[in-house]
Amino acid sequence: MLGSWVSNKICVKEGKIGLGTFATEKISAGEILIVQGGRMIHKTRFDTEEFEPFWYHAFQVEKDVYICPLNTSKEAQDGIFSVNHSCDPTCGFKGQITMVSMRDIAVGEEITFDYAMSDVQPEDEDWENLTCLCGSDKCRKTVIIGKDWKLPELQKRYAGFFSRYVQDLIDSSHNNH
Ligand SMILES: [Zn+2]
Repeated sequence: MLGSWVSNKICVKEGKIGLGTFATEKISAGEILIVQGGRMIHKTRFDTEEFEPFWYHAFQVEKDVYICPLNTSKEAQDGIFSVNHSCDPTCGFKGQITMVSMRDIAVGEEITFDYAMSDVQPEDEDWENLTCLCGSDKCRKTVIIGKDWKLPELQKRYAGFFSRYVQDLIDSSHNNH
């Protein structure tokens, strides 16, 4: 692993819909599974062609700051960069770069988070939606990356598991009402 700390209870392998991260041992609720390393890039640079290869291997950590892999090698796309989205995830955030299990996870279950937990789309931008194939009974089918954090149902279900940056936005949006 390049730059991240990753629990030895999980590994990247081929799943039903491509590569994913899976539990190789039983995991209890609240276990820290990944502390993500990488490069912190400001939005003004992240939005340029130079960083296009990383757009699908990065996530937001502050209003205008993204964490992305050190380079384009497979090895650098470690940790959270290799964790798939699910509308019924097994994991969430503790802080901005630490991934923690939301519940007990059995051997073979996939390590997932909900993109709504980490990414916030600026009002003046239009990001591509994700057609979700997670197959859970909570699946939203079309995931509006960067906007779904506003859904009251998700704010309730993921309380305590949003990235701290997103949680601050949720808290301040409630205080303004
Ligand atoms: Zn889904």
